[in-house]
Amino acid sequence: MSDKLVMAVNAGSSSLKYKLYRLEGLEVVCGGLVDRIGHEDGIFKLTYNGETTKEVLPIMDHHKGVELILNALTSKGIVKDKNDIVAIGHRVVQGGKYFSKSALFDADTEKKIADLTPLDPLHAPAHLMGFHAFKEAVPEAVAVAVFDTAYHQTMEEEDYLFPIPYELSEKYDCRRYGAHGTSHRYLAEKAIAAYLGGHKGTRIITCHLGSGSSLAAIRTPLGGVMMGTRSGDLDPSVSYYLSEQMGLSSAEVYDLLNKKSGFLGVSGLSNDTRDVEEGYFKGDRRCITASNLFARRVADYIGQYFVRLGGVDLIVFSAGIGENSPFYRKLVLDRVKEALGIVIDEKKNEKAFGGKEELISAPDSPVKVAVIPTDEEKMIASDAVKAYEGKL
Ligand code: AMP
Repeated sequence: MSDKLVMAVNAGSSSLKYKLYRLEGLEVVCGGLVDRIGHEDGIFKLTYNGETTKEVLPIMDHHKGVELILNALTSKGIVKDKNDIVAIGHRVVQGGKYFSKSALFDADTEKKIADLTPLDPLHAPAHLMGFHAFKEAVPEAVAVAVFDTAYHQTMEEEDYLFPIPYELSEKYDCRRYGAHGTSHRYLAEKAIAAYLGGHKGTRIITCHLGSGSSLAAIRTPLGGVMMGTRSGDLDPSVSYYLSEQMGLSSAEVYDLLNKKSGFLGVSGLSNDTRDVEEGYFKGDRRCITASNLFARRVADYIGQYFVRLGGVDLIVFSAGIGENSPFYRKLVLDRVKEALGIVIDEKKNEKAFGGKEELISAPDSPVKVAVIPTDEEKMIASDAVKAYEGKL
C-alpha cells in the first residue's frame, strides 16, 4: 500500500480541526483539534488508534498549531515523513459568487477568499491563516479550497435573491449563499446511492441540525432555522425595534441575535439541545417553548421545500441533533407527517443515534426518512485527492 496521505483541515479563528486519511481508499488514520489558539493555555488533541491525548501549552498562532500536529505525527511514528502528506483540503465557509466547486488553493483563489472577507469576516482570515501555516510547513502538498457555499451555487435567482433594491444585491453581492454545502453534498450523494437506487433527479430534503443548522432542498437550498445561539429568520424590524428599545448599536444587536438567541436565548438554559431536551422532560416551560419553536421552524422549512420540489422522496436527518436525538426528530416529524403522509417506525427512530445510519420510515411510508451521519472531512479529503490526481 502506498504511504501517501491526505489531510482535511478546518481552520477557525482560534481553532484548527484536522483529519488524516490514507490516499488509497480514504481510510481514516487519525484526527484531532488545536484549540484556544492565541492563548497561553492552548489545547492540542490527537486521536489515534482509539486513544486521545491532550496537551495544554502556549499556542500563540496557527503556525505553532500546525507545527504541533506535524511533530506529533512524525514523533509518534504515525507518519514517516511530513512530505508523505501529498494533498491538503481546506474548508472555506464563503466562496461567494466565485466558486461553484472546489478549487486549487493558488494565488488567485487566495485573493478571491481575501476579497470575500466582508461577507464572512469571522472565517475568511482564519482560513487564510490555516492555509499559510500548512503551506509553509508542507510546501509540496497540493492545497485545495473546499467551499461550503459551492454546492448551493446552482440555486435559481428566485431562490437566492432577497427582496431588497436590486442594485444593492448586485453592488454588494448581498444574496443568499447557503450553508453547510459540503455536508449536504455528502448526504445527498450517500442518500441517492443508499436509498434511491442511484437515481439522480429524485427529490431530497436534507436537514443538517447541529449547533449551526441548515436545510437543503436538493438543488434549492436556503438557510434560516433557529440554531444553538442564533435566531435564524427574523422579521427585519425586530433588529431595529430592539436597538431602539435597548439603546444598542446595530453591531450589538447583531451580536445578540448571533450569540445569545436560538436555543440558548429562548430556553434561558443552554445552547446544547441535550440540556434543553432534559429540561423539556422536567416540564421546564422555556425548554418546552424552545424545543417546539425549533421543531416548528424546521417543519415549516420542510413544508416550504416540499412545495418547491413538487413533492419529496427522501428526508435526511444529520449532524449533532439530527443524528443523535430521536426526540427532536420526532418533534419535527410530528409536525409534517399528516401533510406528507409520512409513517415513522418509532422503534427504529429510538435506536438511531451515536453515528448509526438508519432508515426510520416504515416500509409503507410514501416518503422515506433516513438518519445519515455526515462526514464533511471525508468530502474535503476526497476533493483533495481529486486535485492531487488532476481530476478536480
Ligand atoms: P454539531 O454542530 O453537528 O457538532 O452539533 C452539536 C450539537 O448537537 C450540540 O450542541 C447539541 O446541541 C446537539 N447534540 C449532540 N448530541 C446530542 C444528543 N444526544 N441529543 C440531543 N442533541 C445532541
